[in-house]
Amino acid sequence: MLEFNFDFPTEVIHGKDVVQRNASRMNEFGRKALIVTGKKSAKVSGALQDVENALTKQKIKYQIFDRVENNPSLLNITAGAEYARKYAPDFIIGIGGGSPLDAAKAISVLVTNNIAADELFALDFKNKPLPVVAIPTTAGTGSEVTQYSVITVPERQTKVGFGTKDMFPRLALLDGTYAGSLDSTITRDTAVDALSHLIESYLSRRANFVSDIFVEAGLKLWGQCITELRTGVVSTATRESLLVASCFGGIAIAHTGTTVVHALGYPLTYYHALPHGRANGILMAEYLRYNSTVAKSRVEKILTRLNCTDRHEFAALMDHLVGHKLELSDEQINEYAVAASRTKNASHSLGDVTSQVCIDILHNSLKQK
Ligand code: NAP
Ligand code: FE
Repeated sequence: MLEFNFDFPTEVIHGKDVVQRNASRMNEFGRKALIVTGKKSAKVSGALQDVENALTKQKIKYQIFDRVENNPSLLNITAGAEYARKYAPDFIIGIGGGSPLDAAKAISVLVTNNIAADELFALDFKNKPLPVVAIPTTAGTGSEVTQYSVITVPERQTKVGFGTKDMFPRLALLDGTYAGSLDSTITRDTAVDALSHLIESYLSRRANFVSDIFVEAGLKLWGQCITELRTGVVSTATRESLLVASCFGGIAIAHTGTTVVHALGYPLTYYHALPHGRANGILMAEYLRYNSTVAKSRVEKILTRLNCTDRHEFAALMDHLVGHKLELSDEQINEYAVAASRTKNASHSLGDVTSQVCIDILHNSLKQK
C-alpha cells in the first residue's frame, strides 16, 4: 500500500534576478526587516545589494546583523538575538550559506520567545517565530527549505540541530548567480553536502514516495554537474543545477532527516575544523559500502543516477572533490563512533548502525595515526 505524508510550507522561487523581480513580496512580512548574514557572503555575492534595493524600493526599513560566524555557536546566536530584540523587526531576511540561514532561523525564534539560546533545543516555544525569507549564496545545505538550524555547542563539544514546523522559511529566493563568487574549494565542499542530503534521505528509514521523487531528480541534476565540479570551473548553468539539487536535497531531508553520515561528520567539523560538506563527503563512499549490504538496490539506483559505474568510481570521485589528509587515533575513532551510534540520525539509517558499523565507516574512510 502506498502511504506517505508530505507537508511543505516554504514557497520557493528560482530564477535569475529573483530578488529584484519579487521585491514587492517583502511587503507581505512587514515594514521593518533585519538582515542576518556573515562577514562577506552577502556582499561579494551581490545578494545584499539586491535585497537593499528591493527593501528601499518598497520603503521597508532595515538593519543588518553581519556577524554570523561559520558553524555559528550559541554565543554567536545570542549576540544576533540581542541585536534583533533591540531592533524589534517584523521579519528576518537570511542571506548566505547554511551558517547565516541557520542563524536567521534561530534568531527568529529567540526574538519572539524570552528564552536563552541553549533552551532552543527543548523545542518549547510559546510564540511563533518571526517570518524568515531565505536567500542562499552557497548550493549545499538546503537550509532555505528546511525547518532545521544547526548550532555549535561547546558544552556538548559538537554541533546540535533543532527544528519545528514553524521554523521553515516562509519564502526562499534562489538565484544561481549568487554562488558565482565562491571559490572552487567551497563550491565542491558545499556541493558534496547537497549530495549527502540526497543520498542520506534516500537511505533513510523515513524515506517515502515523495521524498524519493525529489532525491531522484536532485541526483540526476547533481550528476550532470560532475564534469565541471571536477575541473573546478563552474558555469552559471551548472551553478543553477547545483542550487536546485541542493534545494531538492533540503526538501527531502525536511521530511526524512539526515542519517549517521551527518552524525559522524559533526565531530570532524567540531574537533578538526573540516568544512561541513567535506566532513560528510569523506565518509560517503564507506557509507554506500555499508548500505550495499542492507539496501543494495537503492545504492545501485544512486550510482546509476550519478553515472558512476560502481562504488569504486564513486569513491574516486569523492576523493577528487573532497580528498583529505585527516588522521585519527583509535581512541578518537571509538569516541566519535560511539557518540554517533547513539544519535537519532543513526536510528534513521537503514540496517542496524551499531558503534562497530560507525567504527568501520570512520576507520576505512580516514588515515590512522
Ligand atoms: P557557510 O559556513 O555558510 O559558509 C562557508 C564560507 O563560504 C563562509 O566563509 C562564507 O562567508 C562563504 N560564502 C558563502 N557564500 C559565498 C559566496 N557566494 N561567495 C563567496 N563566499 C561565500 O557554509 P555552508 O556549507 O553553506 O553552511 C554550513 C552550515 O550549514 C553548517 O553549520 C551546517 O551544519 C549547516 N547545515 C544546515 C542544514 C539545515 O538543514 N539547516 C543542512 C546542512 C548543513 P561568510 O563568512 O560571509 O558567511
Ligand atoms: Fe548538511
